[in-house]
Amino acid sequence: MKIRLDSARFEPFRWQETVRLDPAELGLDEGVALTPVEVRGMLSFASPDFLLSARLSYRQSVPCDRCLAPVEEEMETALDLIVVERPRAAGAAAQERDEEEPATVTVTGGVVDLVPFVAEQVQLGLPTHPLCREECAGLCPSCGANWNVGPCACQREPDPRWAALAAWREKSDGRGSDR
Ligand SMILES: [Zn+2]
Ligand SMILES: [Zn+2]
Repeated sequence: MKIRLDSARFEPFRWQETVRLDPAELGLDEGVALTPVEVRGMLSFASPDFLLSARLSYRQSVPCDRCLAPVEEEMETALDLIVVERPRAAGAAAQERDEEEPATVTVTGGVVDLVPFVAEQVQLGLPTHPLCREECAGLCPSCGANWNVGPCACQREPDPRWAALAAWREKSDGRGSDR
């Protein structure tokens, strides 16, 4: 997605485009899925720099941190950049991010490529510990059974709460047989 700065020289330039990002290329975990990102942008000239603002809409699916079930989310995020134009010098077009001002990009050659910024915004939108639901019970570490469905047979060391319940059951059973 390359935007020519000249297209906004006299009046704001608006555009809409779809960006396909490859999750593997972004270094995302296997199991992360993304729909193409719908970008609606506007570039305006605020002499001497340009202001670029865009809205990104897409859908993401990430595996639950505990049970690996897909957690889907409808995403709607904003991207704002200050584009500083550097006079065209000999050599290839380039763009450079300001390390201290991450929202500022300096471009040479009159063209700004938005794809790296879209990719970054998408990465920022991914949850670090997604959960299918707050109380997700997760998978059994030994047999892989989904504890959301029910407890598995291989739990050798029962949860202390289960032990307490079992003790209580034994006691109440004992009381029952007394009668
Ligand atoms: Zn889960
Ligand atoms: Zn198990």
